[in-house]
Amino acid sequence: MKILLVEDNEAIIMGLQYLLEQEGYICQAARRRREAERMVSEELPDLMLLDIGLPDGDGYQLCQTLRQQYTFPVIFLTAREEEEDVVRAFDLGADDYIIKPFRNRELISRIKNVLRRGGKDREVLQCGNITLDAESGKVRISGEEVALTKLEYKILSSMMAYPGKLFTRDEILSDIWDISGNFVNDNTLSVTIKRLREKLGDTEGKTIKTVRGMGYRMESQ
Ligand code: CA
Repeated sequence: MKILLVEDNEAIIMGLQYLLEQEGYICQAARRRREAERMVSEELPDLMLLDIGLPDGDGYQLCQTLRQQYTFPVIFLTAREEEEDVVRAFDLGADDYIIKPFRNRELISRIKNVLRRGGKDREVLQCGNITLDAESGKVRISGEEVALTKLEYKILSSMMAYPGKLFTRDEILSDIWDISGNFVNDNTLSVTIKRLREKLGDTEGKTIKTVRGMGYRMESQ
C-alpha cells in the first residue's frame, strides 16, 4: 500500500515516514502542491495524507483538482480545527480529517479504516459495452477511454451501480449537490444527461433511458 504524504514540514515528514513504514506502508512525500500533482499523475497512491498550508497553494485546491479525475482516498492532516475548515474538506471529497497534533495509533487506525472503506469502491462496474473503474476514475466504451466531466462521471457511476433502478430527477439533483456543493438546476441536469449520452454513443437514449415525468434508468441491455 502506497501512501503519498503531502506536507511541507520536514519534522512531520520524517516522523510520519518512520511511523508508516513501521506499519508496512510505502510512504512518499511531496512538499509542494505541484510536486504532489506530478507524483499522482506518474503513479496513483492508495491513499493521500494532505496538509492544508502548502508553499505553492493549499490542500483544498489540490483535493478539488484531484477529485475531478481520481477517486483514491484523501485524509486531511492539518492544524486547522475550525468547523468550517473540516466541513469544507468533506465537501471537497475528503475521506477523513485529522487534526494536528495527532496521536500515532489513532492516525494508523483511521488510515486502515479509510482503506477498508475505499476497498469497496474498487470494483469495476460494467453495463453493456461501458466499463467504469472507480479506482482510476476511468470510463471506457468498448475499451476506448472517454473523458467525462465530474458531474457526468458522478451521474454515470451512481446509475451504473444500480442498473434497472429508476433514479428520479430529484434524487440525481441532490446527489450532485452533495459532491459539488454548487446548486445544479433541472435544466443543467437535462443538458448534462444529453452530453453524457452523446459521449456514450447513446444519442437515442437506449442505455440511459428517460422515464417520462420521473427520471432516468440505466438499461443493462
Ligand atoms: Ca504546512
